[in-house]
Amino acid sequence: MGDSKVDVLVVGGGIIGLTLAHELQKSGRQVLLIEKGEVGFGCSYGNAGWITPCFAMPLPQPGMFLKSIGWLLNPESPLYIKPQPSWLLARWMMSFLAAMNEKRLRESVAVLTDISKYSLTFYRELAGRAPQTFGFDQKGLLMVSATPQGLAAAEGEMRLMLERGIPGKLLSGEEIRQLEPSLKPLIRGGVYFPSEAHSEPLATVQAVAREFQELGGRVQPRTEVYDFEFADGKISRVLTTRGNFAPDLVVLATGTWSRRMARDLRVSVPILGGKGYSLIVDDFETKPAHPIMIVERKIAVTPRADSVRLAGTLELVDQDDGITRRRVNAILQGSEAYLHLRPQPQVKELWRGLRPCTPDGVPMLGFSKRHRNLFYSVGHQMLGLQSAPGSARLSADLILGRSPLTDPRPFRPERFE
Ligand SMILES: Cc1cc2nc3c(=O)[nH]c(=O)nc-3n(C[C@H](O)[C@H](O)[C@H](O)COP(=O)(O)OP(=O)(O)OC[C@H]3O[C@@H](n4cnc5c(N)ncnc54)[C@H](O)[C@@H]3O)c2cc1C
Repeated sequence: MGDSKVDVLVVGGGIIGLTLAHELQKSGRQVLLIEKGEVGFGCSYGNAGWITPCFAMPLPQPGMFLKSIGWLLNPESPLYIKPQPSWLLARWMMSFLAAMNEKRLRESVAVLTDISKYSLTFYRELAGRAPQTFGFDQKGLLMVSATPQGLAAAEGEMRLMLERGIPGKLLSGEEIRQLEPSLKPLIRGGVYFPSEAHSEPLATVQAVAREFQELGGRVQPRTEVYDFEFADGKISRVLTTRGNFAPDLVVLATGTWSRRMARDLRVSVPILGGKGYSLIVDDFETKPAHPIMIVERKIAVTPRADSVRLAGTLELVDQDDGITRRRVNAILQGSEAYLHLRPQPQVKELWRGLRPCTPDGVPMLGFSKRHRNLFYSVGHQMLGLQSAPGSARLSADLILGRSPLTDPRPFRPERFE
C-alpha cells in the first residue's frame, strides 16, 4: 500500500496539537492530526482548567535552589523529586538549576504572558461562537494564604504581573472571605486577579477539534506513530499503526511522550513528566465560586457546574504514571484545612497526568536543525491549556514566515537539540 501524501501532519491530539492544527488550517494549510488514543485524553484531560496569564511563570524560579534540595528529601512536598541514580535526571536538574536566575525568569515571563494573554482572548471568542459550552467563565482568580511567607510570595507575583499589564489587587483575610465564603478563617489574605478565566479542559479540546474539522481539517484517532524514515535532511515517512504518511511538514505535539518520540527521530528533547493529580468532589458545605490557589499547599481549586476540581502536586518522573496514595491524600487534607468541605468527602473522579516539563520551563517551539520538515511544539509544563492558542499562533507565524506574535528566541529548540 502506498504512503498517504499529506501537507501538514500533526502528531498528538492534546490541546497543543489541536490549537496548532486549527491555526494552520485557518491559515490555508491542509492539516491531518493523528492521535494514538482519543483526542484530549492525555495531559489535557483533567487539568485544573485555568486560563490565567497571572500564572505564566516557568517552573524554575530564583530562590528555589535550597527549596529544591528540601523537596528531594520530602515526599509530602507539593513539588517532589524522588532521589534516583539517573543520568537523565541529573542532566535535567543541572539545566533546571542553571535557569533559576532573575534574568531568565524575566525573559521567560515576558513571552509566556504574551502567549497566555493571546490565549485568553482566543478562548473568550471561541466561547462566544461555539455551539456547545465548554465551561468558559471569566470570574477572576484568588491567590490565598495563611502564612506571612505565602502572602509575600503572592504579593511578589502580583507586582511582577502588574509590570506585564495583568491587574491584581491585595485583599485582607476578611475581604477575601466576603468575596469567597467557602474559605476558612485561617486565611490571612491574598491577591485577587480579576481578569482570569477557567474552563472544562476536555470540553475545551473538543471545542477546538470541532472547529478545526469545520475548517476542513482532519482528525484520525487510534493512530500511533511508531517510527520514522529520513532522506535528504528531512523526514520522508511517518510509520503508524494505521497506515504510513509522506508529509511535507511534521509537527511534534506529543506532550510528555516527546522524549520517547525523540529517540526514533534521533534528536534530543529533554522533557520529563511533572506528575500531578486532580480530584472531583461535590461534598461541600459552601461550594467555592472562584478558582483559588492555596499558596503554601500549591493546590488549585476550580469550580465546576455541579462539583469542584482540586488539583495539585508536581512529582518529577520519567514515564511513571502510578498513583501514590500519600500524595492524593495531601491534596484532600490540604483542601479540607482551607475550605468548608464536608468531613471525608467522596472523590467522584481521581485523575493523574504528566505535565511535559523542559528544564527551563519554556516550551520548545521551532524547526529542528536535524530534520528540515520537523517542527516542535512541546514542553508546555503547567501552562498548556492557558498558553496553547498563543503558542499555536507563534508557531504558525514561524512556519508561515509571518511576523511573530512575540519574541521567539526563548522558545528555540536548538538550546537542547
Ligand atoms: C494536575 C494538573 C493540573 C494542571 N492544570 C493546568 C491548568 O490549570 N492550566 C494549564 O494551562 N495547564 C495545566 N496543566 C498542564 C496542562 O495539562 C498541560 O500543559 C497540557 O495538557 C499539555 O498538552 P499537550 O497537548 O502538550 O499534551 P497532551 O494533552 O498529553 O497531548 C499529547 C498527545 O500526544 C499523544 N501521543 C503521544 N505519543 C503519540 C504517538 N506515538 N502517536 C500518536 N499520538 C501520540 C498522546 O496520546 C496525547 O493525547 C495541568 C497539568 C496537571 C497534571
